[in-house]
Amino acid sequence: MIIGFDADDTLWHNEDGFQASQREFESLLAEWANAPEIEDQLFEIEMRNMPRYGYGVKAHTLSMIETAISVSEGQASAALMAEILDLGHALLDRPVELLDGVVEVLDELADLTLMLITKGDLYHQLSRIDSSGLKDRFWQTEIVAHKDVPTYKRVLGLHGIEPEHFVMVGNSLPSDVLPVIELGGRGVHVPYHVTWSHEQHEGHHEAPVIQSLTDLPSLLSDWEIH
Ligand SMILES: [Mg+2]
Repeated sequence: MIIGFDADDTLWHNEDGFQASQREFESLLAEWANAPEIEDQLFEIEMRNMPRYGYGVKAHTLSMIETAISVSEGQASAALMAEILDLGHALLDRPVELLDGVVEVLDELADLTLMLITKGDLYHQLSRIDSSGLKDRFWQTEIVAHKDVPTYKRVLGLHGIEPEHFVMVGNSLPSDVLPVIELGGRGVHVPYHVTWSHEQHEGHHEAPVIQSLTDLPSLLSDWEIH
């Protein structure tokens, strides 16, 4: 049995940094629009740009710049653009902060074969995996552009893993849990305290939900995996 882990907001904090950065971004543009208007505009621009840029901080930064140009109707200054670039740099430079209990859980599961599967900027994620100190815990680490059914199929196939021998654990239902279940594997949902709008899912699902990664070993033991 192979256990796959998502990284952002499953092993380490991520979305809380984006949301704090977004509050600062909204204050930079406050003379042109209120916070909900800026938030809506940024989200719309990020979704429109996703097929061009993919996920991650660099894509987010370019979309912040485009949003500033749009809401200011071209009046935002180069100095303001520099402040937006600083927000992006701060997100890229943010130290990796593991969620509570991650090291203990990985210790407890060390006799299982563990994988890390994350999406986002290739270079940023490589650097976070390196500085997390967790790299050696994983048999394989994969950084992918999307987390959809074809991607999981490709990654599992690449490593010779049958979907029924695979469990994916993560904070996003649409990215970590549902595509793996669709493929015939198992998914475990571990919600993070904040969720990016793009990763929200309101529909029905039957995946188990645990409140903390520290509940994973006992769930796996109920499944007679560990
Ligand atoms: Mg995640």
